[in-house]
Amino acid sequence: MKGMKCVKCGGIAEKAGLSFQGVEIDGWRCKCGEEYFNPEQAERILLLNKLKGESFEVTLGRSRSNLIIRIPTKVQAALGLEPGKTVKLKVEDAKKLGLIVA
Ligand SMILES: [Zn+2]
Repeated sequence: MKGMKCVKCGGIAEKAGLSFQGVEIDGWRCKCGEEYFNPEQAERILLLNKLKGESFEVTLGRSRSNLIIRIPTKVQAALGLEPGKTVKLKVEDAKKLGLIVA
């Protein structure tokens, strides 16, 4: 969808990068100043803000010689994680392991 009809003025809102709660997401902006956010991306930001700072207790599994970790569904959705995606594991210290999503 390239342009969308503005409900405020009836003009055509053009595709634009918008700031939603401090995060850049896709959307449409009209000449009248009205902004329309990409609904899936906006929902993801809201979910992400809700989960920010939370920690989750998960149980490690095993796949051959490797340990595997299960990521809760709401965390997957908020961070856009899916099978096959490459993430980075960072060893902080003996008690702390970080997961960095590129
Ligand atoms: Zn408008």
